[in-house]
Amino acid sequence: MIISEILMSADEHSPTTLAVEPLASELHNQLLTSLGRGGGLAPEKTRRVFVNRHLRMDHIEVIGFDMDYTLALYNQPRLESLSAACTLEKMITRRGYPEALRQLPYDARRAIRGLVVDRERGNILKMDRYGYVGRAYHGTQPLPRVERRKLYREQLLRILPSHYAWIDTLFALPEAVLFAQIVDFFDADPSFAALSSEQKSSRYSQLWADIRESIDEAHRDESIKRVIKADMASYIIDDPDLPATLHRFRSAGKRLFLLTNSGLDYTQAVMSYLLDKRLPGYSSWRSYFDVIVVDAKKPTFFTEKAPLLALDPDGQVRGELDGHEPPSRGRLCQGGNVQALDRLLGLRGDRVLYIGDHIYGDMYRAKRASVWRTAMIIQELEDELLQQRLVEEQLQKLEALERTRHRVEAELRYEQLLGQRLRRLTQDDPQLQLVTAEAQLEQAHEEIHKRSEAMRTLIRQTDDDLDRLELQIEQAFNPFWGPLLKAAAENSRFGQQVEDFACVYTSRVSNFLQYAPFQHFRSPRDHLPHERVY
Ligand code: IMP
Ligand code: MG
Repeated sequence: MIISEILMSADEHSPTTLAVEPLASELHNQLLTSLGRGGGLAPEKTRRVFVNRHLRMDHIEVIGFDMDYTLALYNQPRLESLSAACTLEKMITRRGYPEALRQLPYDARRAIRGLVVDRERGNILKMDRYGYVGRAYHGTQPLPRVERRKLYREQLLRILPSHYAWIDTLFALPEAVLFAQIVDFFDADPSFAALSSEQKSSRYSQLWADIRESIDEAHRDESIKRVIKADMASYIIDDPDLPATLHRFRSAGKRLFLLTNSGLDYTQAVMSYLLDKRLPGYSSWRSYFDVIVVDAKKPTFFTEKAPLLALDPDGQVRGELDGHEPPSRGRLCQGGNVQALDRLLGLRGDRVLYIGDHIYGDMYRAKRASVWRTAMIIQELEDELLQQRLVEEQLQKLEALERTRHRVEAELRYEQLLGQRLRRLTQDDPQLQLVTAEAQLEQAHEEIHKRSEAMRTLIRQTDDDLDRLELQIEQAFNPFWGPLLKAAAENSRFGQQVEDFACVYTSRVSNFLQYAPFQHFRSPRDHLPHERVY
């Protein structure tokens, strides 16, 4: 009797089916197609704007844009190879690194955004939102589980800039890849292997510093930009919808500004490639914007008080802007700070939407230092979403396995409870022992034991299947690091930062074209675990 009661109550834990989203009617689809939306109620998923916090576009009066990796998306494989080649060139010719490094085949899959470099140990880590290190490599070699736990779990991991570096922009991916590959190169050298661990640490740290300084120089001395400017079409993705997107915002009465760390010369080259001679009514790229700020020096643009300088079109400084200048289109400025820009625009900061790609320099700092609303451009998102679609069947299987595990665990708990009850009953009530044949009691105990063992075996098998499937799914995204925004069942550290600092996020600026300029972007309701259906 007890068994059946227990098993019946276990049924209560079976999953509940949720309502399915209604499909758009044919007529509705036709209307949307005629409006240029095409196909369905919402834009194609890879081109959607995803919402962390409500954003009412009708409340937004000014929209600001970062340039690199925001308005200008790069052909990532080409830019990475170029950055890596320029960096290696400087390391070999200026810092005495061996020529043989030129032979290393560059493997772009070795880095994704959000990784952390442990400079002294030659390791690269991926963390989840709680700082748990789920994946770690020494150079390109997986760090054994025991070592990973010892180094990154047994004590509270404090990510000090003196020991660790974040890979938080797409510009920085080559730094992590080169670091991993050159750590391998060092390790393979017998004279390096003979060094003490302190000596090795200092060589790994020095390697990181050399890579960082070399790539920094390659950005600043134009080695990278010179090549891009000579062949824009190979390095910059020409998005034909970009001019129309900016025009749509302007037609809806919004003012636009550009806020970039790039200098005037490079900004001029990139923006005119993307915007000049595209739409009638815009004499040049500058006329899309009310204010253009170059050399903005973000993140300190948000934290310090550098003067906002007026520039001539040839780049000469004309003097400091005090914020009382009459409005004008295409005003060129340099440097400055967030308050000075708010003054020049003459409005409250919460009426500004700022669109950028850098989680620290654009999103975090803008959120901390101002009340600007934020939108983040995540260029990788389109690939991530396509991949997610490809593994959909496996994801469903994963969920089904998780539910099975949950159910069998519940059954096992009841079985254990049953065993305890049976033992207690026979102890407390000697009469029961008299009226129930000893053989019958033994059989009941035996039955419970057998069923429990079968359930334990099933749990172990399900766990193995889960591990295998989870790995398969993760590796489909990136064979070494898994998905960008998730780490196993949690948000990755990067994913969490996106959730914390970006009001909305999407893969490219022109995705906004699919929404009305007065769109009310609504976030899904937050649910704590106790509010979930099952
Ligand atoms: P933004 O994204 O439009 O603000 O511009 C980013 C600028 O920073 C581009 O001009 C890049 O070349 C530059 N940049 C990226 N990484 C580095 C670096 O490590 N050192 C110096 N400049 C960099
Ligand atoms: Mg940028």
